[in-house]
Amino acid sequence: MIGCHGLVWTGQFDEQGFGGAVERTLGAGFDLLEIPLLDPYAFDVAGAQRALARHPVPVAASLGLGDDSDISSADPQKVRAGEQLLNKALDVLADLESQYLVGVLYGVLKKYPGPATAAGRASSQDVLGRVSERAASLGITLALEIVNRYEANMFNTVRGALTYLDELGDPRIKLHVDTYHMNIEEPDMFSPVLEAGDRVGYVHIGESHRGYLGSGTVDFDSFFRALDRIGYEGPITFESFSTTVVDETLSRSLAIWRNLWDDSDDLGAHAAAFIRNTRRAVDTISLH
Ligand code: MN
Repeated sequence: MIGCHGLVWTGQFDEQGFGGAVERTLGAGFDLLEIPLLDPYAFDVAGAQRALARHPVPVAASLGLGDDSDISSADPQKVRAGEQLLNKALDVLADLESQYLVGVLYGVLKKYPGPATAAGRASSQDVLGRVSERAASLGITLALEIVNRYEANMFNTVRGALTYLDELGDPRIKLHVDTYHMNIEEPDMFSPVLEAGDRVGYVHIGESHRGYLGSGTVDFDSFFRALDRIGYEGPITFESFSTTVVDETLSRSLAIWRNLWDDSDDLGAHAAAFIRNTRRAVDTISLH
């Protein structure tokens, strides 16, 4: 299943924005739409349901927690707010019949001023253990996105995330790998995927500058070969950002300051073809 991040199309996910994103996702050749759900309380569920009734498509959602909802915080009020926010996101996704909640679910999406504390780590694992119970009862998979050092401090590599998950001890929680972040933090684009194996539950495809695929330094050939080797069959979602389409909160935390494209439809169609073509090429030399 090939997906597209909603910010390729729009920064507004009201009924009109969501509906447009659904149509353009399908039009560009994708078969899943991922929406940013940083504020699930403000999301227009009824509007999205009407749009999906017109054009049915599987939906995934990603989010990064904010300072007021940091489940790795020493402040119990923030931890409680974070657990409530994650549960609210699950409610929204259940209403959209979605199967995936992914992203930085374990802490704040930001450049932390120091490393995660042992207490913060334990708090985050404790909350996610409970949220995972509820997600499982709704048929929703949680996948924790491994992001670079400027966007999280809990872990920045597959190995670090596996250690965190082993401590947490809930095999239902999966890893969400992203080629943009791997390209910054991992030794290569192949071995970490093999190490993660069947614990990979969601994939983001992004270029080194988050623009057009193939125009940067990410070694996609090795990455797709690794996905093939582990037999990965979950969503592969294209993620790209430009100042052309802006969600203020997310754009600021991700440091989107420059314009890497201005034609969403051209970018999306190119990405869908790039992903399908690269997977097809890998498939022809597959050993299994
Ligand atoms: Mn990502």
